[in-house]
Amino acid sequence: MAENRGILIVVSGPAGSGKGTVLNAVFEKSKDFVYSVSATTRAPRPGEEDGVHYHFITKERFEELIADDTVVEHTCYCGNYYGTLRTVIEKDLCNGKNVILEIEVDGAMQIKKKFPEALLILVVPPSYDILEARLRGRGTNTEDDIKNRLERSREELKFFDEYDYLLINDDIDEVSSNFISIIESEKHSTKRNKNFYNKFFNI
Ligand code: 5GP
Repeated sequence: MAENRGILIVVSGPAGSGKGTVLNAVFEKSKDFVYSVSATTRAPRPGEEDGVHYHFITKERFEELIADDTVVEHTCYCGNYYGTLRTVIEKDLCNGKNVILEIEVDGAMQIKKKFPEALLILVVPPSYDILEARLRGRGTNTEDDIKNRLERSREELKFFDEYDYLLINDDIDEVSSNFISIIESEKHSTKRNKNFYNKFFNI
């Protein structure tokens, strides 16, 4: 049997990659995952709930959290702070849950450094043209915001080979199943079962 500690999973992808929709499908298919709710200083979009999609907080509060080391990684993305809360990660990993951080590249690189065992997955749309069309189709972002996010995606994709897996999002059902298969395989990797020998021989 594979070891019981959950896997820390970082999921990144340009705005418009559909990573949120892929993750919703993953949560519907499996109960082995928990979503780490980040803190942000950006305003909620219509339909977003405090404590569910994000903890929506002020810039001053965010800066306090940075100062007292409550955030394990953070970044400033298109003018707003985003960060992962330390408490969320540790409790669920110990309980054997796989914890998903849906974060951008800068935060992903901080996590990779602090938690070398984290698994990094990049979700991308099939092409840049499709990415742009999806961002415009959302209708919730201003033109400036769209331009910023497209520019940012160019920069982010330069970090492509820092990630362990690449998922091209052209079919949600297929991509979410592949996501779950990747995690299942990882659980059985030798590097994630280093205690096997000692346990086997009761050492
Ligand atoms: P959005 O404003 O579209 O919800 O998110 C903008 C970007 O911030 C997305 O790429 C999202 O994955 C990323 N993001 C969300 N939460 C965090 C976080 O806690 N840390 C970091 N580094 N990025 C985050």
